[in-house]
Amino acid sequence: MYKGDIRTMEIHTDMHIHTTLSCCCHDPEQTLENIAAKMKEKGFRKIGICDHFWRNPAVKPNGFYAPQTGDSILSLKKSADNSGFPLQVLIGAEAEMVAPGVFGVDRAFKEQVDFIALPTDHFHITDFVKQPPDDSPRGIAAHMLEFFISGAKSGLADVLVHPLLPLGKSMEQYDRIIESLSDAELFDAWSIAAENHAAVEINTACLFCGRYAKMFSRDTIRRTHELAKKAGCKFTIGSDSHESGGFIGYEEAAAFCGEVGITEADFSPFMF
Ligand SMILES: [Zn+2]
Ligand SMILES: [Zn+2]
Repeated sequence: MYKGDIRTMEIHTDMHIHTTLSCCCHDPEQTLENIAAKMKEKGFRKIGICDHFWRNPAVKPNGFYAPQTGDSILSLKKSADNSGFPLQVLIGAEAEMVAPGVFGVDRAFKEQVDFIALPTDHFHITDFVKQPPDDSPRGIAAHMLEFFISGAKSGLADVLVHPLLPLGKSMEQYDRIIESLSDAELFDAWSIAAENHAAVEINTACLFCGRYAKMFSRDTIRRTHELAKKAGCKFTIGSDSHESGGFIGYEEAAAFCGEVGITEADFSPFMF
């Protein structure tokens, strides 16, 4: 599609979709079969499924993760391998980290799925994930950066999902949190992701559509993503959909990429 001289990117892949296997998915329609059919109809060519799990025997899960052991993801992976879908389907999983260096996924599990999506900022899970030391923008920023760098270095992440977005109450002061970080600090953090081949997600729910999207200015996310591109990061697009109405924000993501200068050449191989 051409708009004047500028070619608007079209998104054909969504690498962040939850199914009914995630405890926070309450839509019975959100099955793999339904999602595949719906996304094919929308003109998509590829989807990446990533349900939540915690699998680290050394750290007892909280109530949310206790039933999400990862076993059902492995069963889905097995059965999906044997099913014909109308588009490319990857069965990945959204892992977790509760502190720098403490992950709910290991290499053995990673090898059994198509990709690992790693959130480094699930600070809304207050009874499990280590909380920022204080409520100051700089305190939250440093805490978030420490998690991010640890996740990016871990070798466990194929995609760093909703990166550098301290989910939960902290998002109310997101502009000030990012302002407290220098370009060099952000660039260095993104560089670690690039060096470790961990793709950076453009999360349509967090950035453009969900409740968080109203809490910060466009300049803030433009700055972070320009630095990510400059650092050589590769990008994925993910809706983080937990329900059948959640497949939104793709056009907004395409427009944002245009604004920031992210082209298909900056996309991760997962997008193709
Ligand atoms: Zn997440
Ligand atoms: Zn998710």
